[in-house]
Amino acid sequence: MSSPLHFLTLKRFHEGLLNKEFSALEMAQEHFTYIESRDPEIGAYLALHRDEAMRQAEAADLAVAQDKEMSALAGAPLAIKDNILIEGTRTTSAAQILKDYIANYDASVITKLKKAGAVFLGKTNMDEFAMGSSTENSSFQKTKNPHSTAHVPGGSSGGSAAAVAAHMAVASLGSDTGGSIRQPAAFCGVVGLKPTYGSVSRSGLMAMASSLDQIGPFAKTVEDAAILYNEIKGYDPLDATSDPRADADVSKALLNPTLGQIKKLRVGIPEEYFIDGLDPRVRTKVEEAIGVLKSLGVEVKPVSLPHTKYALSCYYIVMPAEVSSNLERFDGIRYGTRHPADTLLELYKKDRESGFGPETKRRILLGTFVLSSGYYDAYYAKAQKVRRLIAQDFDEAFKQVDVLVTPVTPTPAFRIGEKMSDPLSMYLSDIFTIPVNLAGLPAVSIPAKGFVDADGASLPVGFQLIGRRWGEADILGLGQYYEKAVQ
Ligand code: GLN
Repeated sequence: MSSPLHFLTLKRFHEGLLNKEFSALEMAQEHFTYIESRDPEIGAYLALHRDEAMRQAEAADLAVAQDKEMSALAGAPLAIKDNILIEGTRTTSAAQILKDYIANYDASVITKLKKAGAVFLGKTNMDEFAMGSSTENSSFQKTKNPHSTAHVPGGSSGGSAAAVAAHMAVASLGSDTGGSIRQPAAFCGVVGLKPTYGSVSRSGLMAMASSLDQIGPFAKTVEDAAILYNEIKGYDPLDATSDPRADADVSKALLNPTLGQIKKLRVGIPEEYFIDGLDPRVRTKVEEAIGVLKSLGVEVKPVSLPHTKYALSCYYIVMPAEVSSNLERFDGIRYGTRHPADTLLELYKKDRESGFGPETKRRILLGTFVLSSGYYDAYYAKAQKVRRLIAQDFDEAFKQVDVLVTPVTPTPAFRIGEKMSDPLSMYLSDIFTIPVNLAGLPAVSIPAKGFVDADGASLPVGFQLIGRRWGEADILGLGQYYEKAVQ
């Protein structure tokens, strides 16, 4: 074996495991050894589950030895964002108020992955309650970009992206409410998929904004992301917004699409995503990627999504409204650390004052304001109408094309500390990812070939493929062909 085990893709690991070239235990051990040497510098993990991981790896090896039928995930060492519950383990959403919270059930995605025989290496760092774009809002630690430790890994799933980029997990799970999978994937040079709303169960995902949140995979290749997505998707009665179509073949990602299937795809370039604020280095990389898609023989044409310019404002009304109501449960009584107090109000104040960081408080205040009587119609009700218009733009575009290509972020990864004192400029880093969540669509962030020079560092850039609802097969199929073409 020429390269170390922890460099393997999910696909290659699975083949090698079945061929008995190595064991799942060796794979897990090698990951932990590497994490020990590399993670002190990166800070991707909040907790490691070594003992349990070893047991899971042994179980996978036993199944191989007994020639049992194996899932594509058997023995695969994964990292899990710390807002996804794993029974019996600390799950904090990187928030002080949950620093001692032990999950008492498995998220539905974890149940599925346990059945598939996956190995959970540990929990990854994130922005507190998934609010942020740099992982700097974690109340525990900062995660660094594996390509340059002076730069952020993106957020909010920065730990999950960095773990895969630094080969400290073969793949990982994150959550995406406004870009939290795709943006860190782009900053760290890995693949990140935000699936169709309703395709992956949210049961056991700590809710940020329930109408926008989706769990999805980070992986080293598009094919690996497709493998992991196929395992975690599916209808779940425990999630009221889960969609029965998630069990149908229509929602399956194709693992070996033919060139004939790919060539049939019509690709649209939305002009509103190639604006003046787009960094020229990012623009060039995305244009190069479009050139590669053209060379595959797909038809490429311009389209328009005219309400794009309202998406960020719309999101910053809908999202905090839902945040303010979802975070009510963290009151020190039902959840969270309880402080001694004489009255109920004093109790709430003490628990929430010390338990939430500044960004969480900012959004609770914003959300409470936009929902308050007298302002509800002016803000929340209006934002819901705008949300509909944004979704309709996509419906119109998907009458002409099957896939849209856009940048993921306006710039490459920024420096640690650069945007912390300016929330608005931080919010702007999600301008190209947010419309997809508002419309409930699937989208994947794929590393464009090569790197760009960014203040002394060489950093990756991602491009985004957006599909129609249940169009995972289209975007992941085209993505797999892109990868083959640039290899
Ligand atoms: N960065 C965006 C925000 O701060 C998106 C967060 C997310 O997708 N969880 O809201």
